[in-house]
Amino acid sequence: METIRLDGRVLAGHIQHQLRTEVMNLPHKPHLAVVVVGENPASTLYINMKTKAADIVGIQTSVHTLPAQITTQEIIAFVENLNHDSLIDGILVQLPLPKNIDTNMVIEAIDPKKDADGLTSKNQGGLMTGYPTLLPCTPLGCLRLIQQAKADLGGLNAVVVGRSRLVGRPMAQLLLNENCTVAQAHSYTKNLADLCSRADILVSATGVRGLIKREFVKPGAIVIDVGISKTEEGQIAGDVDSGVWGVAGWLTPVPGGVGPMTVAMLMSNMVNIVKNKS
Ligand code: NDP
Repeated sequence: METIRLDGRVLAGHIQHQLRTEVMNLPHKPHLAVVVVGENPASTLYINMKTKAADIVGIQTSVHTLPAQITTQEIIAFVENLNHDSLIDGILVQLPLPKNIDTNMVIEAIDPKKDADGLTSKNQGGLMTGYPTLLPCTPLGCLRLIQQAKADLGGLNAVVVGRSRLVGRPMAQLLLNENCTVAQAHSYTKNLADLCSRADILVSATGVRGLIKREFVKPGAIVIDVGISKTEEGQIAGDVDSGVWGVAGWLTPVPGGVGPMTVAMLMSNMVNIVKNKS
């Protein structure tokens, strides 16, 4: 079987092009504040991708780098200042934060109306209850890629591997909202191969390189690879083994799949924040 490559760069490019037009019709240029703690080469790379996309779309960004030895309370105070700053429309705290920081407390400090990443309890709760909300960017980007393969997902079996606040949990909820029958797998799941092999849609978000092997995949399935890890040679790799090409019906590459869509959905959230204000 020939596997169709779900190209996130191409789709993200189209979305950003549309967003650029929408930004021109907004009452003001959206302003995104990005909060970074300490130096982390991967975070720097992601922030550069976000600021570059923001430039293309016409969104203003300001990057605030806080020292690595800062406390949770100090980060919260910084975020609260941004909450009260009327010139800032959206706030993004770049994850992961250093181990000594309470990430959940920092996320909860963000004003839900400025929660560009859609991660606060209020926005995640809105996703569960169907209340209009800002949605988490990575799962939303995955959903848009899945819908490129099939417009109507009703009745399909979906398996999401991973259950984090950032990706796994909201991904499962989004698929449930699309009327899929959803199973959520994690590190305690028994017989992962068997569970995955029954999925019409398989999303893997673990960071375990090569976890999803050929025999885990139902022929013709839609497979979304969220994971990012590094090979011994320093190359970026995903959760899905290369043997899955030729079995899946559709598959996202790593890099060039979910990553660009995460960025595009962040831009889309920023546009929605300003639209909802006016
Ligand atoms: P977390 O580390 O928070 O979560 C990983 C999840 O994977 C956990 O739920 C864990 O289970 C599960 N897991 C780990 N090992 C296994 C295993 N052997 N079998 C089944 N499940 C397993 O990571 P995130 O959710 O934040 O991110 C997941 C991956 O996606 C990472 O590689 C990250 O870099 C990448 N990512 C990519 C983005 C992109 O834009 N492309 C954006 C965000 C993340 P348990 O809960 O039991 O520990």
